[in-house]
Amino acid sequence: MDVTRSAYVANGWRLVESVMEYTALTRDDLGPCAAQPGDSVVLGNLLVECATFPEAIFEWADREWDPRWVPEVFASRVLGVTVPVGSVLELCGIMADEGRGAVLTVESLTPQCQVVFACHIRRFALFLTQAGAAELCPVPGCSAGPIHEHIFRCRRHLVDCDVDEPARMAREYGGTRREELDRDPARMAGDPHADLLAKAAAAHGAAEPVNAAYLDGLFDPEMIDEIHWDPTEALAMRHALEREGLRLRRVADTETRLIRARIKNCTTCGGGLSPWAVQAVPPYLCAGACVPSAADVRALTATG
Ligand SMILES: [Zn+2]
Ligand SMILES: [Zn+2]
Repeated sequence: MDVTRSAYVANGWRLVESVMEYTALTRDDLGPCAAQPGDSVVLGNLLVECATFPEAIFEWADREWDPRWVPEVFASRVLGVTVPVGSVLELCGIMADEGRGAVLTVESLTPQCQVVFACHIRRFALFLTQAGAAELCPVPGCSAGPIHEHIFRCRRHLVDCDVDEPARMAREYGGTRREELDRDPARMAGDPHADLLAKAAAAHGAAEPVNAAYLDGLFDPEMIDEIHWDPTEALAMRHALEREGLRLRRVADTETRLIRARIKNCTTCGGGLSPWAVQAVPPYLCAGACVPSAADVRALTATG
């Protein structure tokens, strides 16, 4: 083993040992005063503790630990555990638009791992053994992160959201991409997140409005002639819009056919499902009387 590799391996073990030792200390640190699920914490109070409490110093067992591998921590009174300073700072960053008065409800506190908070419909993880925090999918118990800042569910739960959510997310996500891509039609085609939205919408029989919302956000069709004075540029943009619309329609059609092939029979009447995609109909229903009318949906919503 050469010297560089040997040093690398030694450092790697040092990292593992330090983190294990630190983890054990944070576990011991958990007493009866540790926050319980359902407890509320005000973000500003956590920030004040982080900014004013002294650094917690640990007595490490008979050898020196490498400060690079453990975070600076403080003993939080509101959480009843030792918390890395960087975790609180990062949490404040990702929750900046909620304000310092944001109330976090403890969903779970895992001693060797993290505290999970809920705030309105959002969820966050505050890491305890390393400096960091992350937004989580809003479905309680889910440990995955959102797909994107504007597609705020994980892949697994994207399909579970109600019919209006994918359209709202698609419009916002499309708008973000438009800014990022600088309205360059050559770069606007094909996007894996747009495909995920189209597939989630197809599972509700709502691919058409969701794809339209995404294209609206991405291309801003009303403004094409205003922004592109050169007719050639405007035409290129309209072609890109048509092409992307067609591509997303195919993505949704394929998803609908896959769902129908898997389910095989209408979940209401038991009749066979046609493999031919009809995007306006939920793929688990046949296109006839099993599709609820708008009045039925309103009545269900009112009683549900
Ligand atoms: Zn999830
Ligand atoms: Zn049916």
